[in-house]
Order: sequence, then C-alpha cells, then structure tokens
Amino acid sequence: MRREAVIIGAGPAGMRAALTLADAGLRPLVIDEACRSGGQIYRRPPSSLRRKAEVLYGFEAKRAKALHEAFDALGDRIEYWPETVVWNVHGDRLHLLVGGQSTSISWLNLILAPGAMDRVIPFEGWTLPGVYTLGAAQIALKSQACAIGERVVLFGSGPLLYLVAWQYVAAGVDIAAVLDTARAGAGFKALPGLARGGYTFLKGVYYVAALRARGVRIISGIRPLAALSGPDAAVAGFVYRDHRGHERRIACDAIGFGYGLRSEIQLAELAGLSLAYDEVQRQWIPVGDKFGGDSGGIYLAGDGMRVRGAEIAELTGKQAALRLLANLGRNEYRSQLATIEASLHRAEAFRRALECAFPFPAHLAQELPDNVVVCRCEGVTIGALRDAVRACDVSDINRVKAFTRLGMGRCQGRVCSAAAAEIIAAAAGVRPQAVGHLRGQPPVKPVALGALAEGTAP
Ligand SMILES: Cc1cc2nc3c(=O)[nH]c(=O)nc-3n(C[C@H](O)[C@H](O)[C@H](O)COP(=O)(O)OP(=O)(O)OC[C@H]3O[C@@H](n4cnc5c(N)ncnc54)[C@H](O)[C@@H]3O)c2cc1C
Repeated sequence: MRREAVIIGAGPAGMRAALTLADAGLRPLVIDEACRSGGQIYRRPPSSLRRKAEVLYGFEAKRAKALHEAFDALGDRIEYWPETVVWNVHGDRLHLLVGGQSTSISWLNLILAPGAMDRVIPFEGWTLPGVYTLGAAQIALKSQACAIGERVVLFGSGPLLYLVAWQYVAAGVDIAAVLDTARAGAGFKALPGLARGGYTFLKGVYYVAALRARGVRIISGIRPLAALSGPDAAVAGFVYRDHRGHERRIACDAIGFGYGLRSEIQLAELAGLSLAYDEVQRQWIPVGDKFGGDSGGIYLAGDGMRVRGAEIAELTGKQAALRLLANLGRNEYRSQLATIEASLHRAEAFRRALECAFPFPAHLAQELPDNVVVCRCEGVTIGALRDAVRACDVSDINRVKAFTRLGMGRCQGRVCSAAAAEIIAAAAGVRPQAVGHLRGQPPVKPVALGALAEGTAP
C-alpha cells in the first residue's frame, strides 16, 4: 500500500504540514527520530522530566505551547511514528529503523522536513571530551536539564551563539566567555535589513545586552587556536588569538562552538532532487519540489530546504502541504498559497541580512594547520586533504574522499564536509562550488548491520 502523504520531521515545518493536511481531511504519516515532536527549537524533554515552557523556550514559549497543543490534539487524525529513523529513500520506498529493526514503506507524496544541524570548523583539540557543538550544548539543556560543564567557553558566530549563552546563564551556568569570530561592528552594514526583523532582531539585541548586564565577557574578532586538555585528557582550557593578534588563555571544563547551521540535504538528494550551491550561505541546498508522473510528489519544507529559522519553517511547512493538496486537485487551497508566498517574501529580507551579518568564516577553515583532524570518524587530517589535492591533482570532494576516506565514517560527512570543502577549494585554488558536495549515500544515519540483516528486504 502506498501511503498518500508521508512527512519526515516533526519540527515546526513538519508539524505545520501535518496540521494543514489533517485539516484538509488527509491522514498523513509523520516520522521523526526524536522521542517527542517539536524538532530543534521546540524540542521537548522526555515526559518523565517536567519543565515549564517558559523555562524551556523563553520568548518562544507561547508559540511552542500553541504548536505542541495543536499537534497533540490531532490524535488519530494523523499517524505519528516517533523514534523512527529514515535511513534511505529509494524510488517510492522509505527505509526505516523502528525499535532497532529495519523496515520499509512506500509513499505517494513525501514532504521532506528534516531540518538542519550545526556547521563546524575544526580546531586543534576539538575531538577532546568536553567539546560540543552549540546545538548539542543546547540539546543537553533543553532535553535533559544538563549543562555541558561547570565553567563553559562558548565561541563561533551566528545567532545561536548568543541564544545558547543566554540560556546557559539563565540556567545558572558559569560562562567563562562568549567569543565571537566576527569583528565588532561587522554586521553594521546589515543593520537596516536586520531591523526589518522587528521582534526577532530585538530578541538578539536583548540576549547580548542581558549577557553584558550579567557580567559575561563578550569578545569579538577572535581566532580559535586550541582546546587544552587536563590530566584526565578532557578539556581544561581554551586558547585563542584576540583581534590584536595576542594569544589568550581561558580556563574552562567545557567548550561549545559552531558557525550557524547547514541543511540536512541527504534525503532530498537520495529522493532525486538536484542540489544547487547557495553563495551567501556557502552550502548546497536542494532545489524545488518534484511532482507529476507515477511518483506523486516530493515537497521540501523548513530548514532542510534552506536555513531560515523557525517562523519560515512553519510557513514553508504549510506551503508544502498546500502545494500537495493543490496537486491532488484540491483547488480551493491555491488562494492560500499566494498569501504564504507574500509572507515568505517579507521574511526573506531579514534572513538575508542575518546571513550578511554572520557570514560563514571560510578563512578559518582555509588557514588551519595540517595536523588538525577534519574528519573525526575516520581520523583524516587537514594535511591529508591537502596532500591528496596536490599529489593526485584533484579538486572534486568525492575524489578526495576516495583517496583519504574523508566522510566515510558514521556521520557520512555531515559534520566535516562544510570545512573540508573550503580546505580543498583553497588548496586547489578553485571556488568551493567547484569542489562539489559529498554525494549522499545510504544509510544517512548509522544502522547496525544486524538490524539490516533481520529487517524486511529493501
Ligand atoms: C541543534 C539546534 C538547535 C536550535 N535551536 C534553536 C533555538 O533555540 N531557537 C531558534 O530560533 N532556532 C534554533 N535552531 C534553528 C531551528 O531549528 C530551526 O530554525 C527550526 O527548528 C527549523 O524547523 P524544521 O522543522 O525545519 O526543522 P527541525 O526543527 O530541525 O526538525 C527536523 C526534525 O526532523 C527529524 N529528522 C531529521 N532527519 C531525520 C531522519 N533521517 N529520520 C527521522 N527524523 C529525522 C529531526 O529529529 C527533527 O525533529 C536550532 C537548530 C539546531 C540544529
């Protein structure tokens, strides 16, 4: 049996898509690997851990509560499979891991809303115990009410840096410093565009002001150098260069870092959508929906189509559902599409300004020393990438992968590929889009061989 509508992801995009389809009388299947709906921003702790929405989501509490309540109230108007990983899309089949068992289902219409993940640039010592991404630091707090350490350094660039710092401070954690790789005033030119973000922009201003008011050190224009390890081989400090070029050290027992987000694109690629390089975000993103013919349709929604935040994620979730309905011949939904497109257009100016204010600092990746590990799954160093480019005269990231094992481990390059592309491009003297992207390969998330062997045959 082919299911009429399947949604991958129960974040704001997937939840809004499900609500829209259910209101139109469809009964979509919603699949998510997390144990509860909400996605990243509206992530919910396990039901055994009770915490107020105001504590979990701050300014977003009202919105989070409303979306959670509406989704929970859907009851059996939808099918909802939590703790279910989609590890492959092949033709009209989805390959799933449910309760440790592999199985598959087929679909007629598919909404892809798998969101995004942290974008990292390695640095010396980034594989030490005690080093986390900013997103992981936030997940520990939101999902388990745990901090990553007792005295924490947070560094990188982008809105998540200040948001996570504020959430940690509000939870009573000692933040040793917030270190921004962007120079102070770097976002000045983007101010008019940022101001169009209204409430969202003001929240950002509030976080910085509140951190300063609590006495947290915020230092701009830094260059990360290394995480230092203590006698137990875990993080004991952080070294960076300040904007004057002086080396500085800070004692800490944990580090959170990140440079914005990257879209989860593998499932879209496996589903047959083409990818295009976004020059502003410096990353590959899937292009367009695909429908018609026997295969029904594939629709993109949320941060998985391009990183644009939770508000746009919800809008694009609704848009994907309306497109699906319109393609099923439900023409009464076409007029709502125009309204959504106008809202998206308005929100776009702010997102583009945000991207200009917090550009991906590609130069940090390009200038890293050879000894730093870039692919931690396979232990591949930056020097190995540069050697492959020079010795084998290659600049295609998939060729470099063949020579070095870059991206062949558990994460399939989801963690290292953003920085690796910049390193290869610089070594080969080409633009990062010429390097290409690591081709999506199943399984997109780790699957035990035993589960594959015992599951239903693909
Ligand atoms: C770690 C992290 C923390 C963030 N925190 C904030 C924040 O506090 N405030 C803020 O404004 N923005 C935050 N963002 C950005 C925010 O997540 C997005 O703007 C918004 O949540 C995007 O909504 P979405 O529905 O597109 O994706 P998401 O909310 O990311 O939801 C995607 C869902 O898809 C599921 N999924 C992905 N792949 C698979 C798969 N293969 N199989 C099954 N399920 C899958 C995931 O489990 C997830 O629940 C954060 C992003 C990240 C990565």
